[in-house]
Amino acid sequence: MPTYTPPLRDMQFVLHEVLKVTDELKVLPPHAEVDADTINAVLEEGGKFAAEVAFPLNISGDTEGCRLDKTTHEVTTPQGFKEAYAQYVEGGWAALSCDPQYGGQGLPFVVNQCFYEMMNAANQAWTMYPGLSHGAYECLHAHGTEAQKALYLPKLTSGEWTGTMCLTEPHCGTDLGLLRTKAEPQEDGTYKITGAKIFISAGEHDMAANIVHLVLARLPDAPAGSKGISLFVVPKFQINADGTLGERNAIFCGALEHKMGIHGNATAQIHIDGATGTLVGQPHKGLAAMFVMMNAARLGVGNQSLGLTEVAYQNALAYAKDRLQMRSLSGTKAKDKPADPIIVHPDVRKMLLTAKAYAEGGRALQCFCAVLLDKELHHPDEKVRKDSGDLLALLTPIVKAFITDNGFEAAVMCQQVYGGHGFIKEWGMEQFVRDARINMIYEGTNTIQSLDLLGRKVLGNNGATLKKFGKLVAALVQEEGVNEKMAEFINPIAYLGDQMTKFTTEIGFKGLQNPDEVGAAAVDYLRVAGHLVFGYFFARMAQVALREIAAGNTDPFYGAKLQTARFYFAKLLPETAMLMRTARAGSKVLMDTDLALA
Ligand SMILES: Cc1cc2nc3c(=O)[nH]c(=O)nc-3n(C[C@H](O)[C@H](O)[C@H](O)COP(=O)(O)OP(=O)(O)OC[C@H]3O[C@@H](n4cnc5c(N)ncnc54)[C@H](O)[C@@H]3O)c2cc1C
Repeated sequence: MPTYTPPLRDMQFVLHEVLKVTDELKVLPPHAEVDADTINAVLEEGGKFAAEVAFPLNISGDTEGCRLDKTTHEVTTPQGFKEAYAQYVEGGWAALSCDPQYGGQGLPFVVNQCFYEMMNAANQAWTMYPGLSHGAYECLHAHGTEAQKALYLPKLTSGEWTGTMCLTEPHCGTDLGLLRTKAEPQEDGTYKITGAKIFISAGEHDMAANIVHLVLARLPDAPAGSKGISLFVVPKFQINADGTLGERNAIFCGALEHKMGIHGNATAQIHIDGATGTLVGQPHKGLAAMFVMMNAARLGVGNQSLGLTEVAYQNALAYAKDRLQMRSLSGTKAKDKPADPIIVHPDVRKMLLTAKAYAEGGRALQCFCAVLLDKELHHPDEKVRKDSGDLLALLTPIVKAFITDNGFEAAVMCQQVYGGHGFIKEWGMEQFVRDARINMIYEGTNTIQSLDLLGRKVLGNNGATLKKFGKLVAALVQEEGVNEKMAEFINPIAYLGDQMTKFTTEIGFKGLQNPDEVGAAAVDYLRVAGHLVFGYFFARMAQVALREIAAGNTDPFYGAKLQTARFYFAKLLPETAMLMRTARAGSKVLMDTDLALA
């Protein structure tokens, strides 16, 4: 059976020693009073909830799955899920980073994100129920009318109701411009929505009194394609003027998908048969409004894989110290035992360190992005808000795709550490692998993230936002360029930053002549960019560790940080040379292949 220990010390390191979040927060009026003790205390309690309430339901939830009663259309979640959710609501966890105006606790997003890392590690399938509510909350908070906000936000904040995002239809996932769900205006200002949605996470369940579906649909006069999509809020139960629950709305779960992982989460086919909804935001501008939810969800999906990477690593590490097989190549290490623990073998260490490095790099990036969002929302200086938003937009596809690709690789490597036992259910590793796989697919596949990064975020503005990140790298290089001890961390990112600039210009030129060049390079490009970002954070983490050691701090924690950073720069970051080479192979070898693919 796997175990999970919340990585509180690592979080504190990133939050307080590397990113110095309280310095960032104290200039944001709503968070000016949030100090390190408060953050640590919340995360300590949150870690207990994750480890003691959500984690024990992970394997049982996977084994049991969700059940649909086809006559009532009601879904029963695995045993214990509902009770755990009641505890979550009672503990006020749903309200952590929500607006106090609607009953929230008003803590910074970065605190919520760290809490959610632990929840995802403990039980991704369970965590998706409240996780999607956050996206619905953000979307309504940003685009809802005052009436919609008053009706929905307090209940989403308290967790009494949960949310969903209903985008995908049987014939369209990536290309939402094809969607067919219709919305007909009614005389009372509401809309009758009709259509079919599939793959809707947390689409039906028994954990909350009401489900707030955010549904994309077309108005009768809608232009074709993605410019004709509007967003509607469609509750499972209609809501009376006094806020109490009214009639059952005509939005039902028709079936549950049988799937590879996250069995505890209900992935629902949703039939909408003339359900009553109200418009969110402007007509035909639904995709833009929904992007608030999608961007939150993309950071959330990266966070799911970060959690899985950490929990898989923790278990593989413990197993590698315990499992005895063969002797070390460099001489017996455990003389009192019939064989050495497998952690003595270089390749086992490589697998463990890969997972550890992906977890630590991912955590630094994730927290950095969460602080950017806090700044984008609350910084008094408009320019800082804009810069933070731009940088966050650039980094979001990297969080989504790089962390989830790494998370799957890490889960597979940790499974490999267990040998045959990794393939056997009782150890829990195969579940981590199965659960991690979806994160690369939903919320826009990782290929789509790479096109978003390269096509829209980088080439779309001639690299202007990329330069903003480049400035951060350049500042660190400037600051530490003459420090010999930092050379092993600084030189590779300075070099890669330089290469990346040339690489970007090259693809930009090729793309002007043939757009397929962008599509052919994008996935490799995102991985290179991901490594530049991780390299930057590893250099910053090494900088803190070196300073502590130089100041006489003998805590082995800092030595461990340096060793992981060295491993990262020696064994993982060099992948970028190969990636740039394959990207430069261009589109012809892919597109001129009709014979091969006949
Ligand atoms: C378990 C699960 C939960 C989900 N939860 C939700 C949810 O809550 N709400 C919701 O609305 N949806 C949800 N989805 C749907 C999910 O977001 C989509 O499956 C995903 O966006 C991909 O869409 P698709 O499956 O239609 O694949 P397609 O769009 O058909 O894509 C198929 C393949 O083609 C590639 N492709 C498509 N276009 C391009 C292009 N231009 N360039 C390069 N490659 C391209 C894709 O990357 C993919 O590899 C969920 C799906 C699953 C499996």
